[in-house]
Amino acid sequence: MRIKEIRCVKLRLPAKVKPEQSRPAWHETAEVANPVSRYPRYKRHRSSWLPDVWGPVWVQVVAEDGTYGLGQTSFGRPVEAIIEDHLGPRLIGENCLAVERCWDLMCRLSKPYGTVGLASSAISGIDLALWDLKGKLMRKPVVELLGGPARDSIPAYSTGNDVDWQIELGFNAVKLACPYGPQDGLRGLEENERLVSEARKTVGDNREVMLDCYMAFDEDYTVRLAERLRKYRLKWIEEYLEPEQLEAHCRVRARLPWQTLATGEHMYTQHPFAFLASHGAVDILQPDIHWVGGLTACRKIAEIAEGAGLQVILHGGGLTQFGLHFTAATANSPWAEYWGPPPGVAQADVATAWGPALLEQGTLYPTDGNGFGLQIEPDQIEAAA
Ligand SMILES: [Mg+2]
Repeated sequence: MRIKEIRCVKLRLPAKVKPEQSRPAWHETAEVANPVSRYPRYKRHRSSWLPDVWGPVWVQVVAEDGTYGLGQTSFGRPVEAIIEDHLGPRLIGENCLAVERCWDLMCRLSKPYGTVGLASSAISGIDLALWDLKGKLMRKPVVELLGGPARDSIPAYSTGNDVDWQIELGFNAVKLACPYGPQDGLRGLEENERLVSEARKTVGDNREVMLDCYMAFDEDYTVRLAERLRKYRLKWIEEYLEPEQLEAHCRVRARLPWQTLATGEHMYTQHPFAFLASHGAVDILQPDIHWVGGLTACRKIAEIAEGAGLQVILHGGGLTQFGLHFTAATANSPWAEYWGPPPGVAQADVATAWGPALLEQGTLYPTDGNGFGLQIEPDQIEAAA
């Protein structure tokens, strides 16, 4: 069966009423340390500098018989251009079951302008659509195409600073967003410690706490903060450095041998992960299945990790069916990241057609169905403008 068409599409889904919250969610007001924080005009909120017109991108790959698969990625127009102007047209006529071949071809096609970042996001969208299509053609869920299931349920942890609400929702592990970084001096260090100390008090000793640093620190700040926080027994510290600073990751590792370290959501293709694994620089690899190069890249990273005795815990892995199928099928991927609904809102009120099944006792699992089991009907798909 050959690939007949690859196009970017829009989903026409029923509009949702914004549910009533019991209080504003943490991210509506909180400052989050980030790589741009050193510039005062952009410091207060990430939304002041993140690209706001680059929305989600959906990709449809259609086979000769009309069967199609859907994939999802990010970053709007530039990624749509890579898919529709270059990678998509070059894949027409390829065997649509030969996902590995298509992935390798896309990586090589993108070399003149770079395979990472926007290009690996474009590759992710097509790759995920190809896996969805393969599942539909072979009448199997993707988790089974991958040799799974490796587990019957996936423990989910919750990201966010509404710690009391996250516990009420049933999570046994919460990840905090770190508010301050090197530009905030000793006062910021103290405030960061206060956040972690309060979270530890709220969750008690029988739940895990992690800290996400969103590329905001340097080597020195990471070490100083981690030493201050050691008494709160963080399960891991995440993404403390800019992703390109691979050597600095090795130096942080050497200076913090006792701290579990995690990173990877802004690393692209398997190559930086191979470096981190072979240098023992972190303990947990966190690729994003929608940006790193899709499911095919995540499988390669999981094998690299397994050989080095490391774990893979996807960035945002519990938010979509795509990540859940990978996690359900991968033995060394023990957890999924999840963003709970805002305070006071039921999960059912924020569910999407492609999102995860509802949380049950802090665990998730892919919904039934072939491919990724996305509950999107043909009449809900239309050509992107
Ligand atoms: Mg993160």
